[in-house]
Amino acid sequence: MSKSGDFCPRCGDDVPERPEPLPGEPRDRDAALCDACYFEQFEMVDAPERIEVLVCSRCGAVHRGNRWVDVGAKDYTDVAVDEVTEALAVHFDAEQVQWGVDPEQVDQNTIRMHCTFSGVVRDTLVEEQVTVPVKVSRGTCKRCGRIAGGSYAAEVQIRAEEREPSTEEQERAVELAHELVDEREADGDREAFVTEVTEVKDGTDVKLSTNKLGRMVSRRITEELGGDFEEYATLVTEDSDGNEVYRVTFAIRLPRYRPGEIIDPEDGDGPVLVTSNRGNLKGTRLASGERYEARFDEGDAPDAKRLGTREDAVETTVVAVEDDHAVQVLDPETFATKSIARPDFFDADADEVLVLKSRSGLHMVPEQ
Ligand SMILES: [Zn+2]
Ligand SMILES: [Zn+2]
Repeated sequence: MSKSGDFCPRCGDDVPERPEPLPGEPRDRDAALCDACYFEQFEMVDAPERIEVLVCSRCGAVHRGNRWVDVGAKDYTDVAVDEVTEALAVHFDAEQVQWGVDPEQVDQNTIRMHCTFSGVVRDTLVEEQVTVPVKVSRGTCKRCGRIAGGSYAAEVQIRAEEREPSTEEQERAVELAHELVDEREADGDREAFVTEVTEVKDGTDVKLSTNKLGRMVSRRITEELGGDFEEYATLVTEDSDGNEVYRVTFAIRLPRYRPGEIIDPEDGDGPVLVTSNRGNLKGTRLASGERYEARFDEGDAPDAKRLGTREDAVETTVVAVEDDHAVQVLDPETFATKSIARPDFFDADADEVLVLKSRSGLHMVPEQ
């Protein structure tokens, strides 16, 4: 006498004995069917009749569930392939499943996806084809809507102490803001964006989507370019959803002097080429080549006279090396021979050296 399960429950044919499911595993009713009954009702692929997908026409984000997701798709065919992949389900009995998809553009908004599947079920190779039309509709995601509406919660003001930030400093600061936003985006943060970059009289203003982002950007800019920033809440407003938003201004002050500037702290030891302005000012004395560092009681930087920048220095001829302390060079303006201080960065074999003529006299400037 046979045990139950040795007959197909649908047609009553004999079936070979099948293993009992392991404890805790669901009892699969289909497993008891004979092959003929099993394949008669078997569908390897479960596919929706059609798929509709809403894509942001500005940034390519896709609306899934109730939120927008950045999918990094290059075109709508990519989006369609992704959505079909998400929506298809392959029967768990199938093994060694392979599939391919052949998109057919029907019209501007419809892509017909011809999908071919193969898999092994009950030691039998099964092939199946399904066609799923994907309808793409275009919209504007929440973030792009906010950007377009000029929404922002932080304004980073890039300024410098007692001077205008240089073009390079301003460009680099804006670049850092974009870099940070890209990093946030790559981490899946859709709330981080640059709303607007505006050049103003004494610097650049960068409007950003969140207070937190404004603080991160300000921190990164001052870490790289020196200086510091203050923040203060400016006003409370409402965003498009009626939420209260308070705006924060981040006022960056880049350091008074920047690397490459030549200044005279007027302490009797002559001009200094600024090499670093992170923390307290550091540089090289032009007369001696010795290292210079602003004293603690001077704060980050001393009160100094601005003489020019490294770019203002010009090549001139070395006439003679006088001794350990002096070199004769041609004055680049009058071409008269002049004796100037010999710093330790002077190369005794050099025929030409860089010099800067300024209110503080004629000084050699290091090549590097
Ligand atoms: Zn059967
Ligand atoms: Zn968008």
